[in-house]
Amino acid sequence: MINDEHKISMEKLCHRLHAIPEGLTTQDAKKRLLQYGYNVLQGEKKQPLIIRFGKHLVNYFAILLWIGAILSFIAEYYAPNEGYIYIGIALAAVVVLNGVFTFIQEYQSEKIMESFKKMLPLKITALRNGKETEILASDLAPGDIIYLHEGDKIPADARLITENSLKVDNSSLTGESEPQLRKLACTHDNILESRNMVFSGTLVQTGNGTALVYATGMHTQMGNIVQLTKTTKETKNPLRKELNHFINVISGIAIFLGLTFFIINLITGNQLMGSLIFAIGIIVANVPEGLLPTVTLALSIATKRMAKKMALIKNLESVETLGSTTVICTDKTGTITENKISVNTLLINNQEHSIYERDIENTPGITKLIKIAALCNNATLETNNKYHGDPTEGALLLFANTYNNLKELQENNPRLNEYPFDSKTKRMITINKVNHKNIACLKGAPEVILEKCNHILINNRVIKLAEKHKQQITHCHKRFASRGERVLALAYKEESSATTNEDNFIFVSLVGMIDPPRKEIAGAMKKCKTAGIKVIMITGDYSLTAEAIARRAGMLDHKNANIMTGDELNQTNKRQLKAFLKKDNLIFARISPMHKLRIVKTLQELGEIVTVTGDGVNDAPALKNADMGVAMGGIGTEVAKEAANMVLLDDNFATIVKAIEEGRTIYGNIRQFIGYILTSNIPEIIPFIAFVLLGIPLALNVVLILAIDLGTDLLPALGLGAEKSEADVMHHPPRPRDQRLLDPILLFRSYGVVGMIEAAAGFTAFFTILYQNGWHWGKQLAFHNPIYMQAVAGFFACIILCQIPNVIICRTNKQSIFKKGIFNNKLVNLGILTELLLLAIIIYNPFTHNFFGTANLGVKQILIALPFMLFIFFGDELRKFLLRNKPHLLPKIFRW
Ligand code: ADP
Ligand code: MG
Repeated sequence: MINDEHKISMEKLCHRLHAIPEGLTTQDAKKRLLQYGYNVLQGEKKQPLIIRFGKHLVNYFAILLWIGAILSFIAEYYAPNEGYIYIGIALAAVVVLNGVFTFIQEYQSEKIMESFKKMLPLKITALRNGKETEILASDLAPGDIIYLHEGDKIPADARLITENSLKVDNSSLTGESEPQLRKLACTHDNILESRNMVFSGTLVQTGNGTALVYATGMHTQMGNIVQLTKTTKETKNPLRKELNHFINVISGIAIFLGLTFFIINLITGNQLMGSLIFAIGIIVANVPEGLLPTVTLALSIATKRMAKKMALIKNLESVETLGSTTVICTDKTGTITENKISVNTLLINNQEHSIYERDIENTPGITKLIKIAALCNNATLETNNKYHGDPTEGALLLFANTYNNLKELQENNPRLNEYPFDSKTKRMITINKVNHKNIACLKGAPEVILEKCNHILINNRVIKLAEKHKQQITHCHKRFASRGERVLALAYKEESSATTNEDNFIFVSLVGMIDPPRKEIAGAMKKCKTAGIKVIMITGDYSLTAEAIARRAGMLDHKNANIMTGDELNQTNKRQLKAFLKKDNLIFARISPMHKLRIVKTLQELGEIVTVTGDGVNDAPALKNADMGVAMGGIGTEVAKEAANMVLLDDNFATIVKAIEEGRTIYGNIRQFIGYILTSNIPEIIPFIAFVLLGIPLALNVVLILAIDLGTDLLPALGLGAEKSEADVMHHPPRPRDQRLLDPILLFRSYGVVGMIEAAAGFTAFFTILYQNGWHWGKQLAFHNPIYMQAVAGFFACIILCQIPNVIICRTNKQSIFKKGIFNNKLVNLGILTELLLLAIIIYNPFTHNFFGTANLGVKQILIALPFMLFIFFGDELRKFLLRNKPHLLPKIFRW
């Protein structure tokens, strides 16, 4: 790299790059791509795979299992040849396998996220074959000329050719936090500081410009610096936190039980061997080995499902944040409306006209209007009434195009200067050469434009803008707006130079544009209502337009909106704003994007979980600070997409609501399958406690526990993870912020109720088999005694069989399972089948009897489980019935 691209003359740079003003041709670009490579940054360094894998071997659960394995090896030492070495090996294998599985899951989910990224390729407008063409940023080559607009992410290192109020945020490259104005001259020796340059990876804050690309891909400044080798840091979102909490609680229980009984054991003078067996059993029984990878798998299934519904999540766990949303702050244009804007009405010469009137083109002043609309405009016309650029401007352009040859108009009146539109100033000005005169064309929000005018064009005569004209215009603006029209005002004036001080303009016209609400919005709004989610509209548009659209979108419920404008917002203090935010039917109108952040933060202070939408650069802070930032995939700028947690491919508000529904469902599902998996812990733990406290022969062994946790429980749990949402997910308020994934009620359900029933079933079978074969209390049994092995098999079979009604009842929360359909979750059905198959193998395959410590069971012995299974199933049906119809009869602890 020579690094003098900012100093040498433009001619010299062009010469060096073999660049011409018409840009590259397609063939030329292809050749250059072969030579310089694609414009991509490679080797974003991640943590080495081995370390990422290693992390899975040392989490709490893994450590507990390691301890179990070590204890097994100690047991082997004291009692050789009793098979402890195999248990030790098995436990170690479980940790490694679990690590591998979790790692693969994580890896795959990362791949999914990457594939999502590919669905949102970075695009840029470049000059190719002499025409403005949208191309993939990865296809840029040195010598390309690119167009920069507000909100673009700059795709390569380039030197500016032209600029209009161009401000660039270089913070990703230099750490410089203030965006800086660009210039065309070299200002600093250091290329990174020189104002005539723009660099890959930085952001266009405001303004626009064109630039000549001189370095791409790894040859850029960004490609050079270490910044890139920085690994993306993990953020702790609610689900992560909840899972950690869950792991802590369960590990805590395991350690507490282990230590207490270990001590009791030693005090009561049991030998070491018994204590060891006990400790190993407690650990293995308590740790839900298969749970963590299953959660990840369930989440990635959900993200894929959401992607199909046009919502791309950037982080697996955000799915769940979505589900807890209490407030959605939404844009209007494009999100609520279709963003198919078209001009509908005009105010000109003090008179309202529909553009469909027969001789509208003969109206005095219309040529002026069309000229301003066409010249003060950055959209470009394509064929078939399509345009490229901002929809508001596109609408004006299409309108102008029906009366005039745009191309000729724009070529004959070349632009000398531009004051670009931004959402703060709400106006745009261009200065054009019209018949040897400098004419400033102005368009923007009517209030803003009126402030800048002191004359008005009426019937082709320029007269003083009187108070009465102003009143008429304002009146008309309100009338247009109340119909839901987006209104712009147009004005012009003659200038002596190519600059303007933005006053003394001549008012020409108001233009009313329609942009109908999307069809799906009303349904989505209704869902939000029943789901207790508040929708707040935040728009730069005029209050009456916003209210009219909100009404048509079904947001207001026949009531009046509570509207606050940006100016009013500036006057309110925190307390007043909080009071306002507690009301319903809120609209913020004529808002600048920086207000958004304040609204989001205040809502969060009120305890709300805020989902906010955005498309512009200035929306980025609000998107970042909200609990859930949602960017528009279509109309959104690159900057907004980068700041967001979710990108809507279809820009549609209804998609957010669908995603929230999905988020609620997945949270409920994860809760259900945690409840399901935890249940079997109790019948796994109690045999060991009974063994220590009561001297009962050990009713279950470690190998069988693993067979349950890693074998039979897994597939049904996954099935629960994929369960479709209950009909009423959007019929209750959002989950309280402090509700935990694993709360005492869920623990009570699994450990205190269903788990206990399963344990009771197991012991019933165990003792029935023992007594029938002449056992009496206190009699010791050898591990290889066939009677004992049969009794253990009976205990084991009861757990497995009771888990079948358990998984079925977990499929609904409140609804009767008969209504949902007992067997209509295919994955759960498959889970139940494999469960039964594994059970059959473990009980009836003589070759594995020794390994599992089991023996054949008779039909009668298996049927012992039946009453318990029915009890679990119908008991829960009764509970749900009460929950639906007579909740007051149901103690709170049963309302899980
Ligand atoms: P929103 O997208 O929420 O409607 P904007 O900030 O884009 O808000 O627009 C605010 C106001 O600025 C609009 O109501 C309109 O009057 C005006 N406006 C919008 N786009 C342009 C533009 N390209 N040029 C001039 N004025 C515009
Ligand atoms: Mg806009």
